[in-house]
Amino acid sequence: MNAKTRKIRLSNGMPHQARKRFGQNFLHDKPVIARIVDAIDPQPDQHLLEIGPGQGAITDLLAQAGGPLDCVELDRDLADFLEKRFARHGNVAIHQQDILKFDLAALINRNSKLRIIGNLPYNISTPVMFHLLQNAELIEDMTFMLQLEVVQRLGAKPGNKNYGRLGIMVQYFCEVEHLFNVPSAAFTPKPKVSSAIVRLRPHARREVEARSLEALQTVVRTAFNLRRKTLKNSLKAIMSGDTLAQIPVNLSERPENLSLSDYVAISDLFAQELNQSHHD
Ligand code: SAM
Repeated sequence: MNAKTRKIRLSNGMPHQARKRFGQNFLHDKPVIARIVDAIDPQPDQHLLEIGPGQGAITDLLAQAGGPLDCVELDRDLADFLEKRFARHGNVAIHQQDILKFDLAALINRNSKLRIIGNLPYNISTPVMFHLLQNAELIEDMTFMLQLEVVQRLGAKPGNKNYGRLGIMVQYFCEVEHLFNVPSAAFTPKPKVSSAIVRLRPHARREVEARSLEALQTVVRTAFNLRRKTLKNSLKAIMSGDTLAQIPVNLSERPENLSLSDYVAISDLFAQELNQSHHD
């Protein structure tokens, strides 16, 4: 996309250059915006957090729900614009900050968990999700616009070609629901990739609990780095033969055929080995 076609006007008439490095693709399609907010169905007693409100396309309807709405926008020009636009809304607070450095815990001043919403900048969507999941216990749910391909990976089950690291790690924390797809024509400028809305809801009680999240991450990363190799071949790089022998899973399988609970079982043995070697 050349620089010229990225020139837009904000609703106060100010020219704005849509910044590619901030993943700025603004929603303009009113029925699509209404469908997203309907799917969220915000209530006055719920605390909302919007990531990357941009010009406020979704923000406007979220603010109308009447409950507290915190918005985190990195772009200084847009944050200034939003400050003015929502100045008369006592329930809306604009934070000109990077969501990757934003402290969720600092927002929680009441009993209710956060409902998070965002048409996310696609270039940083994975780190944003992992940053938020560090505080999964503070979150009721997250409704995100993401690249369709990422939504497919988030929800993929074993045996599916989209199944991998991202899906396993996010499914460890959350239930994943692919809500609907959004056409590129709903945005200005139009993104080159397809988009979809997904809902992530942290499990009230996790189905499986890993002894160490770091160990789980290492095992899953190691397994999928060499997707075509059997698990035995990949895992022997990080584990002893003794530990490999204790694994209650068929290690001649490829990584895409194992379930989340298989990975947790492997990572628990790996964590145990690491723990022992620390004490030796
Ligand atoms: N919500 C608006 C909409 O739907 O029209 C804008 C969505 S646009 C895809 C992504 C927004 O995230 C932009 O406004 C961008 O400036 C903002 N953004 C990019 N990186 C960010 C970051 N690290 N922290 C907070 N906001 C960010």
